[in-house]
Amino acid sequence: MTDSTRRAAAIVFLFLGGAALWWAGNSTTSAASANDVMVATIAAAREHAAENDPRLKGGSRFEEGGWIYVHLEGEPGAIGYQHGYLLAPEIEDAFAAVSAGMMHSTERDWEFFRKAAHEMLWPKIEAEYQQELQGIVEGLRARTGSKLDLDDIVAFNAFEELPDYYVPWLNKQQKTVKAPNLKSPGNCSAFVATGSWTKDGLIVMAHNNWTSYMNGERWRIVFDIAPKSGYRILMDGFPGVIASDDDFGINSDGLMVTETTITQFEGWDPHGKAEFVRARKGLQYAGSIDDYTKIMLDGNNGGYANDWLLGDRKTGEIAQLELGLKAYKLWRTKDGALAGSNWARDPKVIKEDTPQFDPNNKESSPNARHARWDGLLKENKGKIDVTLAEQMLGDHADSVEKKEEVNERTLCGHVDASPRGVKEWAWTPFYPGGAVQGKATDAAMAKEMRIMARVGHPCGGNFLAKPFLAAHPEYAWQEPYLRDMNAGPWTEFRSNQTAGK
Ligand SMILES: [Zn+2]
Repeated sequence: MTDSTRRAAAIVFLFLGGAALWWAGNSTTSAASANDVMVATIAAAREHAAENDPRLKGGSRFEEGGWIYVHLEGEPGAIGYQHGYLLAPEIEDAFAAVSAGMMHSTERDWEFFRKAAHEMLWPKIEAEYQQELQGIVEGLRARTGSKLDLDDIVAFNAFEELPDYYVPWLNKQQKTVKAPNLKSPGNCSAFVATGSWTKDGLIVMAHNNWTSYMNGERWRIVFDIAPKSGYRILMDGFPGVIASDDDFGINSDGLMVTETTITQFEGWDPHGKAEFVRARKGLQYAGSIDDYTKIMLDGNNGGYANDWLLGDRKTGEIAQLELGLKAYKLWRTKDGALAGSNWARDPKVIKEDTPQFDPNNKESSPNARHARWDGLLKENKGKIDVTLAEQMLGDHADSVEKKEEVNERTLCGHVDASPRGVKEWAWTPFYPGGAVQGKATDAAMAKEMRIMARVGHPCGGNFLAKPFLAAHPEYAWQEPYLRDMNAGPWTEFRSNQTAGK
């Protein structure tokens, strides 16, 4: 028997087995349970057939410390297929939560996002990533029989850029009456340091991801990608999305990448290239700060506009690329510390791309964390290493009140504890969002393709959904998707890792 006939025979056998059970079941138990058996049998046959798909070769998955680690390798279509297949249950679950959030905030239906993905984003995606996205759909469908299609997955990949960048721009263009209050997000606290600032004089990089807890509790994938072309990648990420998207990653040529989002950014270029594609391409193909800058600028659509914090472990140089749409600026140094907490610093970017941002309001979350980063990094100059970086990500000093308190102004954000919320991002009082996980690495670790990562609040605190929803019924719409977010331990991950090793 060839492999394919053996496979076909197995499917027929399973199918007949199911039919026999159904026949037997029909006479003794309810038709409903017999039908369940039938459905399960067909699903098993489908999964069995998919398991033998040659595209799955080399892909693997295990769980540790609250993270799901997946290794993906090969041609773009195979990387996608492995991604879709290995993370199928998580993709379906994340898609439900994310799409509900996108529709809720924008007051647009899902068909609107599918159309934007199909007509505006898809034609400008390089063939390599089109194949990977197509692969995700095929792997997902093979595993679960999912009804999600390519337009769904492309729109889902753009969840950081379509609702909060494209839609407000479109509402303005179309002079939409009673348009919802949409603001670009303010994701993350991060820094990169080098030279006399760090303990060993080499680069240290750390980042915690700020987002809604609804999405953030699902942001717990470690992707180890060995693509056929480009560099090896180790990054954190979201199920079903081809870029890291909160952006923390390293590649085998020595580039270290993270970012924080530019608060109150406004603008969108419908002719540009999706940010999630440029960000993934940058991590896969850039071997230097210059390469990375070039890739991010090529087709810049303004989506998910970030202050990129970069390091090149080959040279010890770090950089900050403040990527507006109308303006941008690149700073670089071999001796310094560059921090981010969602504030733009270049006067031209502030003027042209963030017209509403007030850099002088010391009480806002971005500026209060800016002050805390400045103080904390200076205090620890010459001592910064990965262990210290982990502690900094869990810092609870409020630079405005000058006290320890969890709220929206601490590096480890807990906006659910703040009666102020964050108005700059349209986060209403007690918004269930904040720091949802953290990562750190340094040049020596990056050379061996290793990172540290912790799920949940980087301070180790837990978020409990039920008491929160009972106290804040205004967020009841999130109830189907909002779950407890328990912190895990700081856990090391590296390329080529397998379970328990
Ligand atoms: Zn905390």
